[in-house]
Amino acid sequence: MNIERFDNRFKKFSKSIYFNHSLKKLNWFNIGGDANIYFKPDNLHDLIEFLKICKSEEKIFVIGAGSNVLFKDDIFKGAVIKLSKNFSRISLLNENTIIAGSGVLDKSLSEFAAENNLGGFEFLSCIPGTIGGGIRMNSGCFGREFKDILISVQAINRLGEVLTIPSKDIIFGYRSCNLAKDLIFLSASFKGNKDKRDKIEQEVKKLKAKKEKAQPTRIKTGGSTFKNPIEQTNRKVWEIIKESVPNKTQFGDAIISDKHANFFINKNNASYKDMKKLIEFVKENVKNKTGIKLDLEIVLVE
Ligand SMILES: Cc1cc2nc3c(=O)[nH]c(=O)nc-3n(C[C@H](O)[C@H](O)[C@H](O)COP(=O)(O)OP(=O)(O)OC[C@H]3O[C@@H](n4cnc5c(N)ncnc54)[C@H](O)[C@@H]3O)c2cc1C
Repeated sequence: MNIERFDNRFKKFSKSIYFNHSLKKLNWFNIGGDANIYFKPDNLHDLIEFLKICKSEEKIFVIGAGSNVLFKDDIFKGAVIKLSKNFSRISLLNENTIIAGSGVLDKSLSEFAAENNLGGFEFLSCIPGTIGGGIRMNSGCFGREFKDILISVQAINRLGEVLTIPSKDIIFGYRSCNLAKDLIFLSASFKGNKDKRDKIEQEVKKLKAKKEKAQPTRIKTGGSTFKNPIEQTNRKVWEIIKESVPNKTQFGDAIISDKHANFFINKNNASYKDMKKLIEFVKENVKNKTGIKLDLEIVLVE
């Protein structure tokens, strides 16, 4: 479904809507074509209005920090929504509970928790996404995941209805959750445990150093490309890739990181096609060499 530029239905959002907007700068890979519509709602009211105006068959994709998505080079025929800074508020509800807007960065939640002597959020300092993306992906590292700290999620559906979903009603898996694909998360509440700020900050420092040592940073990537194939083997996917794929495999500017073989990098100006070729090549080589079937962790936006 193509949402047209001169569609009068969207006139009222003239300050927060962009037509034929490039998606390249909105994601860590720095890859992608234009979106018919890019909408940055100022507030919940505008978001509800927008959803009500869009017909149910119109394609909508919500983006957070764009650290786990790969967009196609073609036009995205629909609307990409990114929540504005008004969805990035964070506050303490009581001494153990934090409420954060979906646009809050994971590292900001981790810092806020430390400032308020709340432990349990340290791992978030190592994930470069937002709360919204973290809930959708059940992101995690060093043995902790979003599901371990989440109390409830506030979300909006395509009809513009706001729902509150307790964490106990959500089934979380490894980098997945069963919440309906068309829900937009607005905010979430999280529980922590009282601890000393110094101790929390020491733990954050330790985790960051561990992460920096093992994975490349400050590069154009989507993080882990494939999930660890935990149902087939307990070996790590980077190890399996390293021994199955020839060194220095490259398609255009799409390359495999030397530091971590499950991190694929846009060296300069890679296209979606280059990155997709690399993904398929690795998948096929791993299957042929080891019999292991790899599943993507990054989200391919169709
Ligand atoms: C250098 C690097 C290191 C990384 N390290 C880790 C790691 O240690 N552990 C880990 O788990 N991941 C890691 N990742 C992947 C990524 O950071 C996480 O998956 C992160 O939680 C994605 O958040 P995001 O806001 O960037 O989501 P995006 O990439 O923008 O989107 C990811 C998914 O979430 C959905 N989404 C985003 N916001 C909302 C919302 N408000 N409502 C509904 N759906 C939403 C999108 O539609 C999409 O399906 C890493 C990535 C990079 C680039």
